[in-house]
Amino acid sequence: MGSKGSFNRNYLRMKKHNFYAGPSILPEFTKKMTAEAALNFAETGLSVMEVSHRSKEFVAVMEEAQNLVRELLHVPEGYSVLFLQGGASLQFLMVPYNLMNKKSAYLNTGSWSSKAIKEAKFFGDVVEVASSKDANFNYLPKDYTVPEDADYFHITTNNTIYGTEILKEPDVNVPLAGDMSSDIFSRPIDVAKYDVIYAGAQKNLGPSGATLVIVKDEALQRVDRPIPTMLNYKTHIDKGSMFNTPATLPVFACLQTLQWLKEKGGVEGMEKINIEKAGLLYDELDRNKLFVPTVPNPEDRSRMNVTFVMAPDYTELEKDFLDFATQKGMVGIKGHRSVGGFRASLYNAMPYESVKALVEVMQDFEKNK
Ligand SMILES: *Cc1c(COP(=O)(O)O)cnc(C)c1O
Repeated sequence: MGSKGSFNRNYLRMKKHNFYAGPSILPEFTKKMTAEAALNFAETGLSVMEVSHRSKEFVAVMEEAQNLVRELLHVPEGYSVLFLQGGASLQFLMVPYNLMNKKSAYLNTGSWSSKAIKEAKFFGDVVEVASSKDANFNYLPKDYTVPEDADYFHITTNNTIYGTEILKEPDVNVPLAGDMSSDIFSRPIDVAKYDVIYAGAQKNLGPSGATLVIVKDEALQRVDRPIPTMLNYKTHIDKGSMFNTPATLPVFACLQTLQWLKEKGGVEGMEKINIEKAGLLYDELDRNKLFVPTVPNPEDRSRMNVTFVMAPDYTELEKDFLDFATQKGMVGIKGHRSVGGFRASLYNAMPYESVKALVEVMQDFEKNK
């Protein structure tokens, strides 16, 4: 790489703190290894973008990525790990297509849940057991009953837009289905409670283009409707995620992140750091008179996406703060249009130092007011 390239990379590392919600920050390790493999993959002298997915080098990447997912999340026997395409949005459809016989239950905690519910309705009776829509999804509903005859209970574990997170699997009598797009690998999970877990890669794992699916093989025997080949989990399980050409470069990048995660102490190690990072920012939000978090109950607050607005007396300062923070190198903190204000996404790859830098910017801004 020429000197201009290196200069630019150093410059970015020094000056920018990446709080984008997705696609979002990745470990330096992932970016560096993927950049190298873009030119010379596994000493083949070819780019990872130009070798066959059936080459022994790429098959090894796919297998190692699947094995590391199993290892890091302690996936029990009887589950398949897939790297598909179409994002979490296609899983909204594939989950009910493959797992819902006549009835399913969904918890509505935001836009992504609502979109998942919409697709499930193509396949039968969808019970929305509770919704927090009445308060613009700023809390997690707790009192609800899941019908015992539902094939599964679908939850969005982390609500990327509204800043809430279900940190503990709900205690229900039916298997769970989890959209974990924005908090997978951020903490330990009990995979055995799920029939299916899915996540678009672009929040906590890699670039967009790959979608991780973990599915319980037994759960696939429930429906007898015909399922088109590409939408059938069985197709992808039987072919080791290689029925169609997988997203080779994104899967390679996911593997690098998984290796980085392992080195950092896995999801157990990540959880410790994530608690510290989120704690630092929420403490500042509770202290600083200019800002309020949008999720009032501390138990419901997401560790991955911290959403906040200006306090009622200071709403006119919103644009000033955004400009001030941007000048100080904070990137991507503008809130989603359906919540407004600000959102700081603190995914696994976000260093503690960046969260500290944001907190300092908030303190500096307060001092000048
Ligand atoms: C980003 C996101 C999605 C959408 O993912 P795509 O890969 O763009 O389809 C779905 N659910 C959650 C929780 C998300 O954060």
